[in-house]
Amino acid sequence: MPTYRAPLRDIRFVLDELLDSHHHYASLSGCERLDPELQDDVLRGAAQFAEEVIAPLFRVGDEQGCRFRDGEVKTPDGFETAFKLYGEAGWQALTVPVADGGQGLPPSLGQFVAEMIGSASWAWSMYPGLALAPVTCLLHGGSEEQKRTYLPKLLSGQWAGTMCLTESHCGSDVGLLRTRATRNSDGSYSITGTKIFVSGGEQDLSDNIIHTLLARVEGAPAGTKGLSLFVVPKFLVGEDGSLGARNPAHCGSIEKKMGLKGSATCVMNFDGATGFLIGEENRGLEVMFKLMNTARLGTAMQGLALGEIAFQGALEYARERLQMRSLTGPKNPEGEADPIIVHPDVRRMLLTQKAFVEGNRALIYWLAHRVDEVAHADGERRQHAADLLELLTPVAKAFCTENAQEVTNLGVQIYGGHGYISDNGMEQIVRDGRISTVYEGTTGIQALDLIGRKVLATGGALLRNVTQLVDEFCEEQRGNAAMQEFIVPLAAANRSWDRLADDISTKATRNLDELGAASVDFAFHSGYVVLGYLWARMALVAQRALATESADDDFYRAKLVTARFYFQRLLPRHLAHAAAARAGAAGLMELDAAAFAP
Ligand SMILES: Cc1cc2nc3c(=O)[nH]c(=O)nc-3n(C[C@H](O)[C@H](O)[C@H](O)COP(=O)(O)OP(=O)(O)OC[C@H]3O[C@@H](n4cnc5c(N)ncnc54)[C@H](O)[C@@H]3O)c2cc1C
Repeated sequence: MPTYRAPLRDIRFVLDELLDSHHHYASLSGCERLDPELQDDVLRGAAQFAEEVIAPLFRVGDEQGCRFRDGEVKTPDGFETAFKLYGEAGWQALTVPVADGGQGLPPSLGQFVAEMIGSASWAWSMYPGLALAPVTCLLHGGSEEQKRTYLPKLLSGQWAGTMCLTESHCGSDVGLLRTRATRNSDGSYSITGTKIFVSGGEQDLSDNIIHTLLARVEGAPAGTKGLSLFVVPKFLVGEDGSLGARNPAHCGSIEKKMGLKGSATCVMNFDGATGFLIGEENRGLEVMFKLMNTARLGTAMQGLALGEIAFQGALEYARERLQMRSLTGPKNPEGEADPIIVHPDVRRMLLTQKAFVEGNRALIYWLAHRVDEVAHADGERRQHAADLLELLTPVAKAFCTENAQEVTNLGVQIYGGHGYISDNGMEQIVRDGRISTVYEGTTGIQALDLIGRKVLATGGALLRNVTQLVDEFCEEQRGNAAMQEFIVPLAAANRSWDRLADDISTKATRNLDELGAASVDFAFHSGYVVLGYLWARMALVAQRALATESADDDFYRAKLVTARFYFQRLLPRHLAHAAAARAGAAGLMELDAAAFAP
């Protein structure tokens, strides 16, 4: 079982040395109080909470799972106490504006905390994560009265929340949604319908559960244009904040599933439950999109968080496990055999894990700073950040969660047969992480959003913002001989990205299936280039640090070696994705559905 240790050295490298976070925060209006000392206090506090309070729940969450009886859900031992401690310690209110009862720290800090808590136990972290669903919806669309009613107890951790979108016939295609909302004379609505797969729909951690739910008001247009957003509390709330009548919003059952067993995945029946409109009728998706964008980056974080713990476990094991001798002669002559970390193939696996995990961290943290800018900057800076996020949110969601499948599976492989055995935790990490490519929009849906809405529909403008950034960096480093091993392949991959987008767009003008046929390979190609950009920048930071007196040379050398590994062994995969994307739609669409198998 891996013992989680928060990777604070690497987190500080990304924040302080790569992203210059002190300058970043100091230059944002309203974030000036986040000085280096406070940032470090938050990071150390989150690390301690994750290691001491949450990590012990990783195993018990999987072994006990959630139990359902008579409409009630019992979560695994320790989940409730941890939820209370989390709220009491103020973590839930960290990034909410002071005016709304929070601590007013920038949104990115919430992401850094989420990584550590999520590595320790993603299943547990789903509860505070989903409790932020009503918080986000209310902050973006709620009335002052709604905020007063719900926010204080959501932020103190006394109440939790959910996001209710999915129905049995309606997953990716949210426009098919059937749950109905009927207007009541007092301005509230009666909600009727069944939602499935609702994370934390019922649990025993909090006094109340505030569901955020999409439904169709009577007479609303079909499709996504007729969706309205509601807040539906499990217990109705009196004016003084006291709990009133039980709303008929009941859990019908919980799912038996592959992983995240400590997180209750509920069928929720709303039988005329009282709901309150957030914002305007038929404009629910606009607010929900704010939540979904946050959630997409939050799910990219799941890829990083589970990749990190798989890497930690695999590295420790590879240093200790003795099997066979090194091809170049014994490295542990006193022992019966050498540790498996001497074998080139084991190193290939470990470096693949390290390169993806640390690259994903750089990508997600870089984007988290852009989220800060959207919230706390204005003018051109804000617009530039918003444009980057538009393009790179689906890339991060698709790429970080897909490469995490490889990283977590390599965890099993490095442990050999012992990785397949439950006691060592590696197989649980694979199971817990598997859902990340599915929920919050599958990889296929992210890829369609990227190539269709973000590339084709903007005439390539959003893509050019990013390829230009990469070009500028390559141009800046043109005279730096030590950077050529990174800059030359990066510039080539960047050109390939641009050309591929053009080729797909041209083909799509004749046949829209060309978009769908190329989309996922295009998303992967995008991911490899963007991680390449960040790895080149990390290599530059490491080279500069190594050129000065530093007590931390080993760390920087490891960064440089990993950057080299990324460029030599992982970046070239973009070529295969370009070739596959160019293969086009014809071969995919040729077979009749009936002809796939007799
Ligand atoms: C553990 C768990 C927790 C969840 N938590 C929540 C929650 O809290 N709240 C909530 O509302 N939902 C939740 N979900 C639901 C989740 O968001 C959906 O499962 C997801 O949106 C996919 O929908 P679906 O399962 O109906 O798959 P479908 O939409 O039926 O998709 C099936 C396959 O078809 C592909 N596909 C569909 N349309 C297209 C297209 N146009 N082009 C290309 N490919 C396409 C998909 O990529 C996928 O591979 C959860 C699910 C699970 C398993």
